[in-house]
Amino acid sequence: MYDSFLARLPRGEDLLGSITHEFTKRMIWKADFSVIGAVTSAVLGYYDPETREYRNSEFKGQFEIVACIGNVSEKDGKIFVHAHIVLSGQDYLCFGGHLMAGTKIFAAELSASPIAGALPRREFDPSTGLALWSPD
Ligand code: ZN
Repeated sequence: MYDSFLARLPRGEDLLGSITHEFTKRMIWKADFSVIGAVTSAVLGYYDPETREYRNSEFKGQFEIVACIGNVSEKDGKIFVHAHIVLSGQDYLCFGGHLMAGTKIFAAELSASPIAGALPRREFDPSTGLALWSPD
């Protein structure tokens, strides 16, 4: 078990990559986290169950991170971060989706908490086409 931690993520870096780096450098395989702050561009994913692929959309501009939540577990022997994000712009309207690489940090604060128990491991799930936690 490790201690909860707070981390400021670096401006200009990739949000998903920076979150992953914070867990990888601490060798934390299992966690639950949130991030608030702002981004200068975003790439969000929508999983299409028909094609079994993520459709990505890029959003250019300054956005508040209204909420970004996620978890950390193992996938293919590596520390894997799964995150969803809700953003808002000057019109205060929110939009969101699965956080993809390519989202650039303006300012971001990560708050992470430990989780007890067995390590969840992601495996291919034939019914959805996704890498989901293996059933207990
Ligand atoms: Zn997702």
